[in-house]
Amino acid sequence: ARERAPRRLSIFGSTGSIGQNTLDVIEQLGGRDGYEISVVTGNENVQLLAQQAKSAGAKLAVTASEDKYHSLKDELSGSGIAVAAGVSGLAEAADLDADWVMAAIVGTAGLAPTLAAARKGATIALANKECLVSAGDLFVDAVAKGGGRLIPVDSEHSAIFQSLDEDQRHAVERIILTASGGPFRTWSRADMANVTAATARAHPNWSMGLKISVGSASMFNKALEMIEAKHLFGVRPDQIEVIVHPQSIVHSMVGYTDGSIIAQLGSPDMRTAIGYALDYPRRPTLNVERLDFAKLSRLDFEAPDEERFPALRLARTALERGGLQGAVMNAAEEIAFHAFVEERIGFLMMADIAEAVMDKMIKTGEARTMDDVFAADAEARRLAAELIALSEKAA
Ligand code: NAD
Ligand code: MG
Repeated sequence: ARERAPRRLSIFGSTGSIGQNTLDVIEQLGGRDGYEISVVTGNENVQLLAQQAKSAGAKLAVTASEDKYHSLKDELSGSGIAVAAGVSGLAEAADLDADWVMAAIVGTAGLAPTLAAARKGATIALANKECLVSAGDLFVDAVAKGGGRLIPVDSEHSAIFQSLDEDQRHAVERIILTASGGPFRTWSRADMANVTAATARAHPNWSMGLKISVGSASMFNKALEMIEAKHLFGVRPDQIEVIVHPQSIVHSMVGYTDGSIIAQLGSPDMRTAIGYALDYPRRPTLNVERLDFAKLSRLDFEAPDEERFPALRLARTALERGGLQGAVMNAAEEIAFHAFVEERIGFLMMADIAEAVMDKMIKTGEARTMDDVFAADAEARRLAAELIALSEKAA
């Protein structure tokens, strides 16, 4: 029994890793007593989407894939649940009144619906880091103007959010992002050169979607998170540090001017960060594994290696250049990631392509409107695709 009116919640990307964990957390938090699910959205997997829509009692189910509209309609016939598809379907989803939105679509596809929901005033539980990397302060402003809040779901940023005392913001000296180092933490570049997506996606600690798993292996995920941190917490680039911590127990830390470090720790389970963002400002009761320090016995830390993981250096460059470089890096990396998964380019080429595109678009200035962001995004994708095609020709 929870003494507050149910929150109207929309789940963008419900069929993914974060989406499924979100539904599990909602079940743990009292299901429909606590959360009225307005909409669930997915992409190709309409069977799972339909099943989620029915068991959550959603009003609307949206598949991002136009081709899947009819099969979703069939799956939900007689259920009374409305069905929509494609970009317009996602816009419809964003237009439904929601108190809270779980933004868990992967990649830049999540930007438009999340932004639209933010403009309508929903509080955004943000898993989709790409939209913050690409639209940066414009996105943060849209949330503020809409009147909602932005609550990070990314475990590192949730940890920082939890370790940041509003009244002590002036005393924040640095943000320390922890990184597991991924499956290739101790590998040489020569060994990384020939890995496949299947090897790259096998993360030692976390079970996650394909893009973020590959991003953990290349450390592009951490690169995106450095830029995400800048926009979420308003710190300078030189205040953002990365430390490799293979056990993924310390989820991140805030360093203060008196030398104190405040950290958030826990098992590597996304449900803690998801529950925190959905139940905010209360802290929920969750059935996740508790830490046993005697069993852990030790926590390790090591400096990241920007030679073997150039993504970190590229994030630094993007932060220093500012403006649209985040959008450019993000878009180029997304195209390179797809090419890697399709075995069109090697693992190390992902960073090469992102760097080349960033250098070609170095003069792209500040984003004044979202159109500037979309234009830079499109140009970076075009350039990345061109470079990939060239490298295939050469091979
Ligand atoms: P995932 O691939 O498991 O799920 C992605 C979701 O987006 C699915 O519902 C899918 O149907 C949907 N989707 C895919 N392509 C789409 C498109 N073109 N248009 C609309 N919807 C589309 O991904 P995930 O691991 O759950 O990650 C989701 C987001 O959360 C990512 O931005 C990721 O970086 C972030 N995140 C994930 C984790 C994690 O543990 N999985 C942790 C931190 C942050
Ligand atoms: Mg993370």
